[in-house]
Amino acid sequence: MSDAFPGFLDRRLETLDPEALRRHQWARLEALARAAVPANAFITAQWKRAGLAGPADLRSWDDFRRLPLTRKSELVADQAAHPPFGTNLSHPLDHYVRVHQTSGTTGPPLRWLDTQESWAWWARCWGFVLRGAGLGPGDRIFFPFSFGLFVGFWAGFEGARALGALAIPGGGQDSAQRLAAMETLGATAVCCTPSYALHLAETARERGVALPRLGIRATVHAGEPGAGIPAVRARIEEAWGARAYDHAGMTEMGAYGFECAAQTGLHVNEAEFIAEVIDPATGGPADEGELVLSNLGRLGSPLLRYRTGDRVRAARTPCECGRSFLRLDGGILGRVDDMLIVRGVNVFPSALEGIVRRFPDVDEFVIEVYRRGQLDEVRLLLEVNGHAQSVVAAVQEAVRVDLGIRVEAVPVPGQSLPRYELKARRLVRRASE
Ligand SMILES: [Zn+2]
Repeated sequence: MSDAFPGFLDRRLETLDPEALRRHQWARLEALARAAVPANAFITAQWKRAGLAGPADLRSWDDFRRLPLTRKSELVADQAAHPPFGTNLSHPLDHYVRVHQTSGTTGPPLRWLDTQESWAWWARCWGFVLRGAGLGPGDRIFFPFSFGLFVGFWAGFEGARALGALAIPGGGQDSAQRLAAMETLGATAVCCTPSYALHLAETARERGVALPRLGIRATVHAGEPGAGIPAVRARIEEAWGARAYDHAGMTEMGAYGFECAAQTGLHVNEAEFIAEVIDPATGGPADEGELVLSNLGRLGSPLLRYRTGDRVRAARTPCECGRSFLRLDGGILGRVDDMLIVRGVNVFPSALEGIVRRFPDVDEFVIEVYRRGQLDEVRLLLEVNGHAQSVVAAVQEAVRVDLGIRVEAVPVPGQSLPRYELKARRLVRRASE
């Protein structure tokens, strides 16, 4: 295992002092530049726009910061112009061994190819994620996931194997079968979206299965920011009798964020990524703003200075776990594009979720957004188990107290809202009322 992934279990990378970490990143960046420029047409065109003709022109961090920010729309346009894979390829096509695509939550899906080397890098990155959650050899990690084109849990599965844990695939099963498989095979950890963890808990409740008795000690959540929202985390932890860990990653970027035992926000894996936070309006550096990432080990299809669209708040104080990696306070706060302006107040859907999930009688919810005149209005659809009217009124009051806005909230019948195995889509924009 350690032969296939040199340095895989080397914890020293996580505790480098800031200067050593920058030197490590710089060496990786130079290697990336040599691998990608001039073979990779997409990257080379970007560098030319910044006045850099080749890898030798990258001499300082100032040169790096002159590279243009990369937007998702450029990648989409590149793939549309050069179907099906676009031009962000450092090698001929026959060097690539994996293909995945984005979920298409925010536009047309992006396809992404990985070489053997890039796929091993994915597994290494997930090793940081799983190890952050305290997992390792001896753990049995269950993946209740239909192994399709979405990359996240494929890479997690590889990461579990690379870490020396037992990786258990949970594809081709319904929720009840998955609960049974976890029990039979003695699973100790589960990787899934936060929504699906709650859905499994609901299924267990309906079937009279006492979830905490399964012996799961950690749940690791990707695909949505939910596990970083305190009320969502508390609900998952209570249902499973386990610690719930947040993780962040993107198909086109990689698995970059993870939580440690201290759970003081997401650590960015700075051994494998360069993180910047910018003011989304001006592009200048900021403490709270849009996360911009560069990956350092996906040489077959790298992304440099990529605007993730995720809003984050950088925390620079040391973490008690000893890792020197940057922390994102509160995890991913929301999508930059998803910010609502309700009666003049800026509201992220995740803030609404953080309130709704405090009410154990709400099984599911949807946030409907529509325009009334020039204003955004919000309507919460709540699937309530029990005394619907009093719960709905209590949610409205909590939103008013916590966020200072009045929203409409209406109860809907049980099981009428969608459940999700992958990314939940609870924000629905309506053209009008
Ligand atoms: Zn930590």
